[in-house]
Amino acid sequence: MKCALGIALATLLGLPSAALAEATVLTNVTIVDVETGRLTTGSSVLIRDSMIVAVGDAITAGDAVYLDAEGGYLIPGLWDSHVHIFSTPTEPETALPLYLINGVTGIRDMGGLWPITDQKALQARIEAGEVAGPRLILSGAWVDASPGSWPGMFLADTPDEARAVVERIAAEGWAAVKSYSMLDEPTYLGLAAAAKDQGLRLVGHVPERVSLGTAIAAGQAGVEHFGRIPMACSTREAEMLDDLRRVMAEGAELARVFEVMAARNRIVLESWDAGLCQSVLAHLARERVHVSPTLVVADFYTGNWPAADTPRMRMLPARVREAWGKPDFRLAAMTDEVRALAADSIALYRRTFRLAHDAGVPILASTDASFANPYIFHGFSLLDELDIYVAVGLSPREALFTATVAPLRFFGLPDQDGTIAPGRRADLVLLDANPLESLAPLRRPRAVITGGRLLDRAALDALEARLLEEGQ
Ligand SMILES: [Zn+2]
Repeated sequence: MKCALGIALATLLGLPSAALAEATVLTNVTIVDVETGRLTTGSSVLIRDSMIVAVGDAITAGDAVYLDAEGGYLIPGLWDSHVHIFSTPTEPETALPLYLINGVTGIRDMGGLWPITDQKALQARIEAGEVAGPRLILSGAWVDASPGSWPGMFLADTPDEARAVVERIAAEGWAAVKSYSMLDEPTYLGLAAAAKDQGLRLVGHVPERVSLGTAIAAGQAGVEHFGRIPMACSTREAEMLDDLRRVMAEGAELARVFEVMAARNRIVLESWDAGLCQSVLAHLARERVHVSPTLVVADFYTGNWPAADTPRMRMLPARVREAWGKPDFRLAAMTDEVRALAADSIALYRRTFRLAHDAGVPILASTDASFANPYIFHGFSLLDELDIYVAVGLSPREALFTATVAPLRFFGLPDQDGTIAPGRRADLVLLDANPLESLAPLRRPRAVITGGRLLDRAALDALEARLLEEGQ
């Protein structure tokens, strides 16, 4: 697919009075340490060329512009570790500002239609400050069995093909290899081995015919979505995998394959075992397998959709809203049984999620936001996801950790680790109230700083107004 990068993104350049002075001191801030929960009041932060240069209680820099934060709370910018911004030629035009107005200054893209060269071009323009948007990690080298669950995927049906695909992925410069659902086990194991040989991380879906334990043993570093974890807590995981292997080996029609997969919901509810779950979760924690839960996706399946007149809907291009209103193949694939059990399934997911967090499984806050995923919103849905974490029992600090420190430790970027300290990138969000007491202030940041830009409340309002206008 050809993407009109230059034209499509031109509108992002003209942000209202956003550039930071070369040297800027934020004074009178309350710095939030998301790891320890410590608050440091009356601090100053010196930012030079989009980097934090100094943090202390009295900073003077002769050439600097001073901005009084009036005691506001400063947190590291948020990350959404599972999004898709490249599912249409113009999606970033809407997605990038939606992230910024929600305080999201980093995203990991997990697969789309744009060629890698165009994805990298956008990434470079954001890094250079030419385009306003969150920092972008390109992790969308998704590999599936043919014909592929989505257009544009890498395809592999044998271990040899998997090895060849991984060589291409490495040569193209992707951040990781992403496994997808329909890979068979030998091909998946070939993919994992080839990724290891290339020094690339394997993240992604645990394929539907592979056990979670096999994926952990194969060295999968990141598990996308949560469903396979409660399934591994079922005493019948092996039987469910065998059922699917059998119907697929028989060459059953896709409808039959989906039916067998849909039956898993009931089986997991009937056979989820607390003792088994503890050992599964301990295994994940011990191996430092990072889980991107995307719990908010349940809203799509249960019809928990915002009204058409809500701002988040009105900020979308009209054709996206129209597409979301049409019948969806994933909803059509739901059986009556799955619908009837949805509330129980969601409750079990959430319970298992809470146990996973308590067991020390590293969690990366994530949403699956994409124009291709109805009612999962760029930006807004990350805040919804964090609210779910708090609703199931994480403290606001623990929820924030999954969107700041945890992803940055996993990604290993040299200049960012989720702390506010000298030598770190100045990707910051200034809030009116203490986010360790409630995450509510995240919904209306006082300012967002990223890429050498400061978007104060007026600039964020202007950005929202522009999105609303474009969504007409
Ligand atoms: Zn996804």
